[in-house]
Amino acid sequence: GSSGKFFVGGNWKANGTKESVSKLVSGLNSAQFPSEVDVIVAPTFIHLPYVVENIDSRYQVSAQNCWVGRAGAYTGEIAPEQLTDMSVPWVILGHSERRSLLEEGNDFVGAKAANALTHGLKVIACIGETLEQRETGHMYDVLEGQLKGVADNVVNWTDVVVAYEPVWAIGTGKVATPDQAQEVHAFIRKWLAEKVSQEVSAATRIIYGGSVNDQNAAELASKGDVDGFLVGGASLKADAFATICNARA
Ligand code: PEP
Repeated sequence: GSSGKFFVGGNWKANGTKESVSKLVSGLNSAQFPSEVDVIVAPTFIHLPYVVENIDSRYQVSAQNCWVGRAGAYTGEIAPEQLTDMSVPWVILGHSERRSLLEEGNDFVGAKAANALTHGLKVIACIGETLEQRETGHMYDVLEGQLKGVADNVVNWTDVVVAYEPVWAIGTGKVATPDQAQEVHAFIRKWLAEKVSQEVSAATRIIYGGSVNDQNAAELASKGDVDGFLVGGASLKADAFATICNARA
């Protein structure tokens, strides 16, 4: 595992109304988890100000995306400096839903990561293979291409968390086995050691995402190279999310 704190992120995706977000924030504010865990929640852009204002300071807030450059004439986008101005310290980049539905490529995701870091954001960089890529023996090529997109652009990895999210496990209820997760996390750590540096490999948190819930989190968390989770569906339920935050006992 890495030398960093256990890390649990909740990706709310395009979910939530004023009412449901307010209930979720109340639930999270009463949840218990150890102080040695970094817990991040990522609401939609329009819910960010409410969550920043109302969530307990034990949580850190994240956006789910940001623009690749500075603020300016980029209709519909949100720039990193606007997030930091809103006291949002984190951003999720390269989520598989954006890679597939919006055709975000490896270089674009890498450029976004570099830009976000330059403007003082911390980055959760997502990578992961599809079932077809895994079954046809292309898994490691795909992961390597995605990692290279980040590594070619990012100079300082201090504020980067890598999220391994196999596409076939996201929102499907089909979680990777603890051994499958460990195998890929170990590959990522080795790749970082060889292609970036031993220091970055040892310090970077590699978290797993894909149908993590309150029932399966503890077993996944027992694996040496699983440094935390990125959670979709189960992050919308305060109780389940709190259980996941307690997964590394
Ligand atoms: C995600 O989209 O980051 C995710 C892990 O989703 P879920 O937990 O719903 O599979």
